Amino acid sequence: MNLVVVSNRVARASANEPMTGGLAAALLPVVEKSGAIWVGSSGRVRDGAQREPFAEIEELGAGALAMLDLPAAHYGGYYEGFANSALWPALHSRADLIRVSQDDYHSYREVNGFMARALMRFRKPDTAFWIQDYHFLALGAELRDLGVTQPIGFFLHTPWASPATMGCVPHNRELIEAMLAYDLIGFQTEEDRDNFLAYVKAELGLPITDGVVTSSRGASRCQVFPIGIDADLFAQQAQKAVAHPDVSRLRKSLNGEKLVIGVDRLDYSKGLINRVNAFERMLTSRPSLQRTVSLLQIATPSRGTIEAYGNLQGDLARLVSDVNGRLGEADWTPIRYLNKGFRQAVLAGLYRTAQVGLVTPLQDGMNLVAKEYVAAQNPIDPGVLVLSKFAGAANELDTALLVNPHDIESMARAIATALAMPLTERRMRWEVMMGKLRRGSVQSWFSDFVDALGAAHAAKGEAGNAAAAGEAPALKLAGGWSRRPPMAYGGAILQ
Ligand code: UDP
Repeated sequence: MNLVVVSNRVARASANEPMTGGLAAALLPVVEKSGAIWVGSSGRVRDGAQREPFAEIEELGAGALAMLDLPAAHYGGYYEGFANSALWPALHSRADLIRVSQDDYHSYREVNGFMARALMRFRKPDTAFWIQDYHFLALGAELRDLGVTQPIGFFLHTPWASPATMGCVPHNRELIEAMLAYDLIGFQTEEDRDNFLAYVKAELGLPITDGVVTSSRGASRCQVFPIGIDADLFAQQAQKAVAHPDVSRLRKSLNGEKLVIGVDRLDYSKGLINRVNAFERMLTSRPSLQRTVSLLQIATPSRGTIEAYGNLQGDLARLVSDVNGRLGEADWTPIRYLNKGFRQAVLAGLYRTAQVGLVTPLQDGMNLVAKEYVAAQNPIDPGVLVLSKFAGAANELDTALLVNPHDIESMARAIATALAMPLTERRMRWEVMMGKLRRGSVQSWFSDFVDALGAAHAAKGEAGNAAAAGEAPALKLAGGWSRRPPMAYGGAILQ
């Protein structure tokens, strides 16, 4: 089987720049090993790309990476517009931030159609397509319109909101009906899947049996696949990273003070304002903690051209500066605030240096930072994770200190409890979480999805096509993680 994985953003193994998206960070190691072709945006746009798809292709482990220039005329409406100013706020239950624009929707559909046409270059009789995330809700339907009968699966990395909130998305019925072209639709949590099925039932009036929706497009299975990380690899990286100069300098600068760490894209879904307020509340209501602890908040700039993100950046900078101005001393800064990204090889060491990991999103699909913080800890003296119950990760990491990010007082209490937690309790909580991370690895997430996609496609009526062509109904990556034959795409330009 040839697997083609599609996402808006791709990661380059060779790139030295920090990666700041859970999706790209999670996919890179598994795609490298699987021998799949990973197709996504190059980050560049091109006039006339509509007519002539251009892709730069490079080797990626046993497979390949194809980076497409997207059509200049539609990129803004697709990416900053419909994907990130309509879908993203809706999926994160922020109906108040949804921008309604017909032009944005038109551009979104244009880019989905463009991507479908570009993907036809990679189609072989035994190809299966796996589409990632909310940028491409309609891509499966576009592929079917081009005659693709092979398996097509979709995984949503974000939450899926209630039917009422999703009903605020422009053209929601058309879009969600288009999603039913997928053989398999994967979600991070049961709540997300149930919200999706509730919409399908209430708004589209379609029958659902055991998680399978039947529509005019055939059967679509809706299933939960919580994404994981390679916990042991991350642990090794963290052990190594403590010797990294950036990490040693941080340790020295602490002078025996404790450290609380937060690492997020600068996004309104991450609960950054509430977190800073909670840290401040902890310090003001427990003055003896002042000078004994600081918060290192890494807030990587993201989607800066969108108004809501620009506003957040300003609000957060002002809040941090206000707290530091009021509570700081000549030799102590309560909040170390950074607007930049770090490579994971350094980040792992920063996590390990911190006694508390503070992950407090208002709404989050999974939150890989929470999992990475746990994996990075020293087993002999692990730190404590304070985790929002609204992160998908809270389902598995239920021995973290779970908090409601809207309740500032109880978050302040949880941070103080974490800082004072005895070693035996820290170890007990950490061991349970680490065991779960080991069992729910990113490798098993990947292979569980691919197996389920094969099964869902076989179960669908259209599997008749594959059977007629003499294909085996179940999908298996050739040799699991073994090498595929060298890529046949010699040139770097696809025409
Ligand atoms: N990340 C990184 N460098 C940074 C900040 C974040 O490599 O400076 C990575 C981090 O290790 C994690 C991902 O970006 O793998 C963030 O994923 P998460 O699921 O927490 O949030 P998302 O950004 O996808 O909403």
